[in-house]
Amino acid sequence: MDSIHILEKLIAFPTVSRDSNLALIGYVADLLDAHGVPCQIIHSEDGHKANLFATIGPADASGIMLSGHTDVVPIDGQNWTLPPFEMTKRDGKLYGRGAADMKGFVACALSACLKASRMTLRTPLHLALSYDEEIGCIGVRSLIDMLQAAPQRPLLCIVGEPTSMQVATGHKGKLAARAICRGREGHSALAPLALNAIHLGCDFVSALRQEQDRLARDGARDGDYDIPYTTIHVGKMNAGVALNIVPNLCQLDFEIRNVAADNPDQILDGLRAAAAHIAAAASTIAPAAAIDIDITNTYPGLDTPANSQAVAFVKSLTGANDTIKVAFGTEGGLFSRDLGTPTIVCGPGSMAQGHRPDEFVSVEQMRRCDDMLDNLLRRLAGHRLQTA
Ligand SMILES: [Zn+2]
Repeated sequence: MDSIHILEKLIAFPTVSRDSNLALIGYVADLLDAHGVPCQIIHSEDGHKANLFATIGPADASGIMLSGHTDVVPIDGQNWTLPPFEMTKRDGKLYGRGAADMKGFVACALSACLKASRMTLRTPLHLALSYDEEIGCIGVRSLIDMLQAAPQRPLLCIVGEPTSMQVATGHKGKLAARAICRGREGHSALAPLALNAIHLGCDFVSALRQEQDRLARDGARDGDYDIPYTTIHVGKMNAGVALNIVPNLCQLDFEIRNVAADNPDQILDGLRAAAAHIAAAASTIAPAAAIDIDITNTYPGLDTPANSQAVAFVKSLTGANDTIKVAFGTEGGLFSRDLGTPTIVCGPGSMAQGHRPDEFVSVEQMRRCDDMLDNLLRRLAGHRLQTA
């Protein structure tokens, strides 16, 4: 079945991360089953979502894994001129939520699996589909647990996030955290007798910005990124009830996106120390003053050596001469860290279209991805690969 036809089916499942993806997983499982390919379905704890893993070819050998997430970001508040959950084909472009990020790749990978089911492979092809990637690479972790317990690990993983079919070897890691700043409420007319939690929060934001300045000036650098150093950013601040009440609570959501040479836990330790210092200074006014920091999500960066065999292998599939690193995070860092599987990010479409209204992938990009996977199938049929 042609990848574009499959993409049309996939876009029609509104798999926004907050909703179930089971209808899509059921469609994929039925499609594979009709071609004689069994699959494992790993449900989330509440049973509303699932990962899917399938192998085509010999069961006793390590293979090449194609990885994609099935969830998409919401369309809320976006000005779509085309139906988001119905594929529109126009001027060589295929529109719909997830076309670029990343149902286009999932469709190509499925099409390749169906072709593989009619071939005799000497090295297996694996398909790994996840849920809840868009909210912090959550779902794939149970799939990785399953693969960790399996007798063999994949030789290579291709994560098909949109890179315009360029071969990407890395992305930054991410640590997301919430700072909960506690002061003491009071009448605003007597503000100096209370402790304003927003003021505490602002002092902590200053500490975050000082740390950002230090990292930009003295931190590790990786010139392959547009922003070559580790970044710190506050994305949300919640506080206050009314102007005449000194607020007693201020919550800040912030993140650290680190280059490979920086350790986000160490950076966070420094920020915790700064928070403790700010709270201690305020405790003379209100003994209950505190800034507590909770980690809300983390995933590791990806840093596959550009001169590795895995990179050379994928370059030979696409015909690329060079490699890039991408700004956005992927599940690749987890595959690399937790399975030791060399991982590359390479997929159709561009993240310039991801997460936006009228998202699209071009037919040309889909064809280039199909070509890469056809080349892969030829390799898998020809050899029992020991390393990628
Ligand atoms: Zn994605």
